[in-house]
Amino acid sequence: MGELYPADRLPSAREAVRLAGVDALLVTPGADLRYLTGYNAHATERLTCLVLPADGDPLLVVPMLERPLVEASPAGSLDLGVAGWPETDDPYAVVAAHLRAALGRSPERVALGNRMWAEQALRLRDALSGSELALAGSVLRGLRMVKSAAEVEALRRAGQAIDRVHTRMADWLRVGRTEREIGSDIAAAILEEGHVSADFTIVGSGPNGASPHHELSDRVVQAGDVVVVDIGGTTAEGYCSDNTRTYVCGGPPPAEVADYYAVLHQAQLAGTAAVRPGVTPHEVDAAARDVIAAGGYGEFFIHRTGHGIGLEGHEEPYIVAGNSEPLQAGMAFSIEPGIYLPGRHGARLEDIVVCTPDGVDLLNAVDRGLVVLPG
Ligand code: ZN
Ligand code: ZN
Repeated sequence: MGELYPADRLPSAREAVRLAGVDALLVTPGADLRYLTGYNAHATERLTCLVLPADGDPLLVVPMLERPLVEASPAGSLDLGVAGWPETDDPYAVVAAHLRAALGRSPERVALGNRMWAEQALRLRDALSGSELALAGSVLRGLRMVKSAAEVEALRRAGQAIDRVHTRMADWLRVGRTEREIGSDIAAAILEEGHVSADFTIVGSGPNGASPHHELSDRVVQAGDVVVVDIGGTTAEGYCSDNTRTYVCGGPPPAEVADYYAVLHQAQLAGTAAVRPGVTPHEVDAAARDVIAAGGYGEFFIHRTGHGIGLEGHEEPYIVAGNSEPLQAGMAFSIEPGIYLPGRHGARLEDIVVCTPDGVDLLNAVDRGLVVLPG
């Protein structure tokens, strides 16, 4: 996975640390650590922390018993020191001591990973007393938002995997089954089709489809139900999928559904067509939203148009009104307008796209129409 987790990330991040005017970055398990080193550590009470000073050598502080995991990961072939701390040592003191040694002084300003656990952040604050703390997200966002060609291909493989799950939906989504039964089959298929985790399975049938983040319930699917199926997982490479299709099961849907689904489809096409470098997320959101407003459903599109995706299912850039930071080639995000009629039914249409130098690359290819299943 050298191409996916190249060795130049730590030097690039160190440059970003210097430009941001902080003395060091401290990153615990999660997407930032995986992005920087290729090490997919699980978060536990034992501290694992990448110490990346503006000057001097980076150091990965890990529980001694997990050292073999580091060595087996892409991080094992980086020019990166690894300090395994024995079970009874204080790893926070190890972090502080390395920082002082690398900088030749006490750090004044240190950036902590945005998703670091509070108990770790507070212990680091104590170990680095006198240092001002900031968030690492503002240091790393510029790197993580713009995907490399290898990352785009990893996202494409994730997209193809989730597409294969959608194409099998008729096997599970049937009248008389509960959302929970259907969701359980979908989750198994997410794994079968090439993910290592099924991160979410939204099966919103009938009125539940009007709640965008409804997951699963014991509601039984009825003939003629509209069913929103939004599913995603993470592949072994670390990249996420996220795709929504809306189905009709076992009979004709309520009359207005075909009408508003046509509006929704046009809105998604308009949002997608707006994507190119220099256009803002605000403008992409407006391109989709304007179509839905013109169709008379504006008040029923109650969320932003999309979110970035990569090592995390939701990350920057957010495709939302007010985000005026221009898109760049390599940014990957969802375009997922929805129309939700409270208490009745709803629909959403979601694909992952990548901004390219001259437009847009679609990472999902499954049919975008309302999918009618026999039931
Ligand atoms: Zn989704
Ligand atoms: Zn999404």
